[in-house]
Amino acid sequence: MTRVGVLALQGDFLAHQAALGELGVSTARVRKVTELDHLDGIVLPGGESSVMLRLLRFAQMHEALHDVIAGGLPVLGTCAGLILLAKQVENPQQDSLDLLDATVSRNAYGPQYHSGVFPLEGHLGMPDCTGIFIRAPRITHIGAGVEVLASRDGDPVFVRQGTILAAAFHPELDGHHPVLDIFLHALEQPREARNGLQATHP
Ligand code: GLN
Repeated sequence: MTRVGVLALQGDFLAHQAALGELGVSTARVRKVTELDHLDGIVLPGGESSVMLRLLRFAQMHEALHDVIAGGLPVLGTCAGLILLAKQVENPQQDSLDLLDATVSRNAYGPQYHSGVFPLEGHLGMPDCTGIFIRAPRITHIGAGVEVLASRDGDPVFVRQGTILAAAFHPELDGHHPVLDIFLHALEQPREARNGLQATHP
């Protein structure tokens, strides 16, 4: 049975567990290095990326988490999770796991007041697809190896680089969102096929 880890140091990990549970996927909270073993995939949830980074260091998980994802463990990062994955973080500059060849600007869609539901363009297999954006980061640059799966007003908001999927919005708060299906589909790929898609470091 597929077992997905959900980083549970801070943020909306419970919503991810509930959304995946509704899709029949078993999840495990990840709060320490040993809990990174025996997973088929991992979710980095939304929340406050600066706090998550501090807690990752406190739990001495920063390097181990980087290494499992760089080694090909499929990951879905949403909002703060995207910020953790991006190689460059601005507004303000911040450290990260340095895995996704992208630059993100924190809170660039505005404060809580400007948060809301916005239409997505792309090929998500569902007409009139929307995304819930909450103090969301804007992806301001992507490298050549990064594929755009959905955009908002022309900006990339859901991207893929090998086994890394990252969304600026919150599919876990949206019932059955196609982003979760795309992540689950990636988990079904045999490990050998995934190696060919490994998180690249262009
Ligand atoms: N604004 C948060 C950050 O910069 C992200 C918000 C979210 O995850 N909904 O970390």
